Amino acid sequence: AAYDLALEQGADYIEIDLQMTADGVLVALHDKTLNRTADAPEGVPEQYCRGLVSKKTLEQIKMCDAGSWFSPDYAGEQIPTLDEIFQRYGTSVNYYIETKNPDAAPGMEEELVRLLGEYDLIEPAAENWQVLIQSFSAESLMKIHELEPSLPLIQLYWAGTSKSIQRDLDAVSEYAVGIGPYKKDVDAALVEAAHERCLAVHPYTVNTVEEMEALIALGVDGMFTNNPDDLDSVLGDAALSGEAAAQQAAEAYRECSAGL
Ligand code: CA
Repeated sequence: AAYDLALEQGADYIEIDLQMTADGVLVALHDKTLNRTADAPEGVPEQYCRGLVSKKTLEQIKMCDAGSWFSPDYAGEQIPTLDEIFQRYGTSVNYYIETKNPDAAPGMEEELVRLLGEYDLIEPAAENWQVLIQSFSAESLMKIHELEPSLPLIQLYWAGTSKSIQRDLDAVSEYAVGIGPYKKDVDAALVEAAHERCLAVHPYTVNTVEEMEALIALGVDGMFTNNPDDLDSVLGDAALSGEAAAQQAAEAYRECSAGL
């Protein structure tokens, strides 16, 4: 439901946080535990929908209600698998996928790359940035880079400082095409230092029009938001389709890299 609404509101990418079940299936869930956003419906054992995703089987997780916590309108929503998301949207949308808690889920990167291959998404990812892969874990990104060097990767940063991120950019540019800093760490110096290395800058999570305008003025290339309709309004005539935006970003990266 959230992905459908995001696309309706003009999102260029849908953002997918990955967790891995005990039986090795990739599912989309922000938190590492089920506690905040899942409930056991009547007749389902409570423990299926409590605790770490990594300790549950897909069968158990599929019994949980992942919508009621938010609103009764979404009662009965299931936690989707990555496979189901790819089946639903195919190559009609762009995917911005985050490997989460990769240390607790050995094999997550291999399974992600396998699924991207199965759905013929590796080439469109490399060519047109139809898929971007993000992580706070440099190790996870470097692993993906080894498995499939053509995939475009974004290094996320916990809240810190512009300077501390700038010191990391040379190392990051070895495997990534961009960075995802906390919005308050973005200043003109960071954007400039990133762009000198051809790295895109995608701050998170930007939910007010004031923040969006300020970051655009600083020269960021994209942003994570819960309100894609507001970002679309802020961009006005400059708003592109998701397909065009992703293609343009991939092309700009290629041109910039060729000039380095
Ligand atoms: Ca995320």
